[in-house]
Amino acid sequence: MADPFGFLKYPRKDNPYRPVEERITDWEELQTPLEETERQEQAARCMSCGIPFCHTGVFYGGKRAVSGCPNDNLIPEWNDLVYRGEYKKAWERLSRTNPIPEMTGRVCPAPCEKSCTEALNGSGVAIHDNERFIIDTAFDNDWVRPTGIPESRTDFQIAIVGSGPAGLSAAWRLNQLGHNVTIFERSDRFGGLLMYGIPNMKLDKDVVQRRIDVMMEVGIKFVANTEIGTDKTAEELYAEFDRVIITSGASVPRDLKAPGRELEGVRFAVDYLTEATKDVLKHGKGATSRKLEGKHVVVIGGGDTGNDCLASAIRQGAASVKQLEITPILPEQRTPANPWPEYPMVDKEGYGQAEAHFVQAEQLTYYSTSTTKFLGAERGQLIAIETVEVDNQFQPVEGTEKRMKADLVLLAMGFTGPEHSLLAEFGVSEILDDYTTNNERVFVAGDAKRGPSLVIWAIREGRLAAENVDAQLRALVAQ
Ligand SMILES: Cc1cc2nc3c(=O)[nH]c(=O)nc-3n(C[C@H](O)[C@H](O)[C@H](O)COP(=O)(O)OP(=O)(O)OC[C@H]3O[C@@H](n4cnc5c(N)ncnc54)[C@H](O)[C@@H]3O)c2cc1C
Ligand code: SF4
Repeated sequence: MADPFGFLKYPRKDNPYRPVEERITDWEELQTPLEETERQEQAARCMSCGIPFCHTGVFYGGKRAVSGCPNDNLIPEWNDLVYRGEYKKAWERLSRTNPIPEMTGRVCPAPCEKSCTEALNGSGVAIHDNERFIIDTAFDNDWVRPTGIPESRTDFQIAIVGSGPAGLSAAWRLNQLGHNVTIFERSDRFGGLLMYGIPNMKLDKDVVQRRIDVMMEVGIKFVANTEIGTDKTAEELYAEFDRVIITSGASVPRDLKAPGRELEGVRFAVDYLTEATKDVLKHGKGATSRKLEGKHVVVIGGGDTGNDCLASAIRQGAASVKQLEITPILPEQRTPANPWPEYPMVDKEGYGQAEAHFVQAEQLTYYSTSTTKFLGAERGQLIAIETVEVDNQFQPVEGTEKRMKADLVLLAMGFTGPEHSLLAEFGVSEILDDYTTNNERVFVAGDAKRGPSLVIWAIREGRLAAENVDAQLRALVAQ
């Protein structure tokens, strides 16, 4: 067990965020790691509880948000190993459940930390940053590649459709188990939303590419610019592959059907964020562009994607940013109806909001606010929006109408689900809890199965789908 009194000796310390004034001038990662000894102190804060709520994801208090790690990561065990300086063993323990922890060690909202026993009266153990330390140390020491190499190969061929975290996780595990894996991706780069969606300052694209490179080195094949259902049909895949896992994400964005929606300047957040990352990949992450200089940007949606849009627009020099959220502001503290170990439904300032507050004095966030109209100039370019405040039933409140300047509106209101045409291509009408479908040869995992979610859920589902494919194929051989 880590130091039994560590939580009393050492206050919680997170990987520090770079100062706002510095970080808004580039696209480099927001946080810088702690020194090794400080990391060990943070790991020492883990009490190795009898019932570690942190390592089993449970929806305490209903389906609002999960508490604990959805991937059953063996957290107290690797915290203890970090505290003792046994980093390779910590990596072995972490990699038992998480094939790509460098992603979650950067972008996971860490539901584990909120359900940590120490969070009952304190701030919780800095589990997320410990995870990042373990995997970054593993890459620095070349411990990762050898764990991806199978002891022997089977003759089975598996196709994976989509290279997001679910596809990568499934591919890593299937390859480890000895199968021959090919990932098809319609985009020009691999990683799904890890590459195009989550901005570089949250997850450096070199980190994503490092994993793809290692996956190629251990024998996984990657095929880019190939849309399954268009460039290659289901029948063509059946001819070459024994099983197909669909991990195509939940890519249908929620739209806002207000008058003027067709105006130039009203865009989906993910399209904008993809373009911003393409610019960074082309021009480098060391300096920001001034692409939005003089432009007034309104982000519709108060969640994490909205925050990513704010931060990106600020780096592109926007004259002003605003964020509209249709729900009311959350309370500052947990309410009695939302006790530990539930995920705390409280107001928190996102990194993009902190940056916006730094660069502008005017109001940033408008809660309980709905957009009723997009207004354009003669040539079809957006110039403003009209809004109204809403009550708790989302009904307009008379007399609260406003007009806001807007040259660019980013719709960040979430996603409705997967593209059904792909599932139809494979005749999939039913997806079961074990990732099998009504089509014996086809499995579905990640956001394509569960709807818009988190990277760690996608990783878990990819890994478990892979293990079920393996079990099915081995049963065939045994017959
Ligand atoms: C802007 C944004 C920020 C986010 N930030 C976070 C965060 O900080 N932390 C967090 O935990 N989660 C975050 N999420 C959610 C997280 O990214 C997703 O839950 C996760 O990526 C889902 O993984 P996936 O593998 O199921 O799908 P995706 O990552 O969506 O990948 C699906 C892939 O399939 C490809 N594809 C689709 N159809 C086809 C086809 N027919 N043929 C070939 N390829 C196809 C797509 O091009 C894509 O590359 C964020 C989401 C967004 C949109
Ligand atoms: S993946 Fe997320 S929830 Fe799981 S241990 Fe890491 S930070 Fe915590």
